[in-house]
Amino acid sequence: MQRRTFIAGAAGATAAGAALGTRSAWAKPEHKWKMVTTWPKNFPGLGTGANNLAKLIGEMSGGRIEVKVYGAGELVPAFEVFDAVSRGTAEMGHGSAYYWKGKSEAAQFFSTVPFGLTAQEMNGWMYYGGGLELWSELYAEFGLVPAPAGNTGVQMGGWFNKEINSVADLQGLKMRIPGLGGEVLKRAGGTPVNLPGGELFTSLQSGAIDATEWVGPYNDLAFGLYKAAKYYYYPGWHEPGTILEAMINKTVFDELPTDLKSIVQNACKVVNQDMLAEYTARNPAALQTLLTEHGVDLRRFPNDVIIRLRELSNEVVAEIADKDAFSQKTFASYQKFLKQAKEWSAISELTYLRARDEA
Ligand code: CA
Repeated sequence: MQRRTFIAGAAGATAAGAALGTRSAWAKPEHKWKMVTTWPKNFPGLGTGANNLAKLIGEMSGGRIEVKVYGAGELVPAFEVFDAVSRGTAEMGHGSAYYWKGKSEAAQFFSTVPFGLTAQEMNGWMYYGGGLELWSELYAEFGLVPAPAGNTGVQMGGWFNKEINSVADLQGLKMRIPGLGGEVLKRAGGTPVNLPGGELFTSLQSGAIDATEWVGPYNDLAFGLYKAAKYYYYPGWHEPGTILEAMINKTVFDELPTDLKSIVQNACKVVNQDMLAEYTARNPAALQTLLTEHGVDLRRFPNDVIIRLRELSNEVVAEIADKDAFSQKTFASYQKFLKQAKEWSAISELTYLRARDEA
């Protein structure tokens, strides 16, 4: 009887220690991971989201997994994150799937699609509509396990040094715009370029590019893009709810015990939701700062430009289906979900948002 009381007391004390986060209660790390990222170290939202993920995995595992985060270029360059985790140079990575379209065109569906799903709809497709299963199937070929681990919400159209008053103004426009949005711009007569975030400001300021998109007010303010461009266009037709991804080396992940697998996956889920909440809170405040303190010229893309970009987007997205059997399957799943999501959003979010604002 006494012995049982003693054991219960000791277990209680350990639990209390862990709850307080005291160092002595933490296990010695069983797994020391490196997380390489496509973001500048500590970059607001994206980089801090990666930091948050590493911290959560450490806390939730009671210190059994220790994750050290590396910014772009610290261990590997931004666009080598996928390969680094695939070959095991790092155990984990944080990026966005559209950066890896060179590996598979279908990867772009797991990031964002022009005129496609919003953040909320994207999470529906991922967790309950078959999206994450398809993504896992694709990444398994490269020895990776993916997970949604952040979302920016609807992005901004970008920073321009040329006015966009008509479809003709897209002709010859040299713009940093990755993924499918870039392909759409190309068909509209522009020249898309892909540059990591850290190179945007100087490229825009030097005139090497006419325009750049990045994320939204919170991130764009942090990069000081308003100092290098005249006009800030909306909406971000090309990125309506971009998923940031976590990827884990599959051999490393498969060797984890069930509880640690669950901890890693659920930490990703927490960060996925948390990042969207952070953007939802910080974007409005940052936009006010841009408008009132920095006198930014905010412009909406004209309707005919939006309509043309949407026509071209539909073409570009549909063509991915022709690339290979996997892309066909992913396109079919995405389109089916999108059709239903649009019908439902038309009578829920869309109608509500209008009802809230209109007289
Ligand atoms: Ca973007």
